[in-house]
Amino acid sequence: MKRKKTLVANWKMNPSHKEAIKLAQDIKNSLLSLSTSEIVLCPPYLYIPEVYEVFVNTAVQIGAQNVFWKKEGAYTGEISVKMLADFCKYVICGHSERRQYFGETDEDVNKKTKAVLNKGLVPIICVGEDEKAWKQGNIDTALDQVRKAVTGISREDISNVIIAYEPIWAIGTGNAATADYANKICMQIRQLLDSLYSREQAEKIRILYGGSVIENNAVEFMEQSEIDGLLIGGVSLKAKEFIEIVKKVSKIK
Ligand code: PEP
Repeated sequence: MKRKKTLVANWKMNPSHKEAIKLAQDIKNSLLSLSTSEIVLCPPYLYIPEVYEVFVNTAVQIGAQNVFWKKEGAYTGEISVKMLADFCKYVICGHSERRQYFGETDEDVNKKTKAVLNKGLVPIICVGEDEKAWKQGNIDTALDQVRKAVTGISREDISNVIIAYEPIWAIGTGNAATADYANKICMQIRQLLDSLYSREQAEKIRILYGGSVIENNAVEFMEQSEIDGLLIGGVSLKAKEFIEIVKKVSKIK
């Protein structure tokens, strides 16, 4: 089954305002409109409206790095899906840094995922094992996180979900998973979704790999049968390298 290739840039808490706008403009000025992939830029909340403006009438989509599941109310410092919906099509849910530093639980990720789907946006659910589990050969974490994140999500909604397999030991370390290994886990995730829903639904779901993706390994990941896209952190802050990845991936049949 042909699934849309999807490249997600997670800028995290990195660029200054000036750097963010320059990055957006550099990306726009490149040939991204010729890209055959779905390009999703996830700036810090503060810059979302301005980055959105840069890409009006282009194919580039905006995503948020996080969200709160409540509709509105006394939740100081939080942002709702309704607020994001004017600018964003995608929302990252349960990035490992949110789980690790902000105590996000699987239950939180499930609530966020449902809130995002309810408003017609696309959740990008991040899952992945830590280094200790990986070294012990225990790779069940990702599957367990997927199962909990999709609990209660309907058959109609599930094909709108994106799963990003991001082993924690590979994020920002320069130590990417091998393409083979990443593909194996992505395949297990798809098999799990097949058992929870149906083969047809599971085949529609985009599964991404993230963790130290660079220009030199991006194509190998994208050539794997079960990897439909990439979630890119560090390198997405470098316009030239990010654009090169987009161009290379677009050439893959
Ligand atoms: C990430 O932000 O999820 C990520 C994969 O980062 P990096 O590409 O820097 O490893």
